[in-house]
Amino acid sequence: MWEIKKDKVSVDTPNCISCGACVAICSEVFEFDKTSKSIVKKQPETDEEVVCAKQAAAACPVAIIDVKEVKAVNDPDYKGSNDNKKIA
Ligand code: SF4
Repeated sequence: MWEIKKDKVSVDTPNCISCGACVAICSEVFEFDKTSKSIVKKQPETDEEVVCAKQAAAACPVAIIDVKEVKAVNDPDYKGSNDNKKIA
């Protein structure tokens, strides 16, 4: 067995101020929920999606987007696309 590295994106959604920057910059990864707060639509799968997710994180005025490299195999941190909780 081997391990591969993946970039995992998370958003601290309750603290989103709905500015729209992340969705404008990287709609492949981010979208608004029903309350117009940002959530992760899907985890980035391509290099381009990782780059735009990082650009969105840099642009977020309240710094609540986290892009973190995790191991994709045997790593409890990697929970897939619907995990919007920020990892401490
Ligand atoms: S850039 Fe930050 S504050 Fe703006 S919508 Fe995205 S997560 Fe919310």
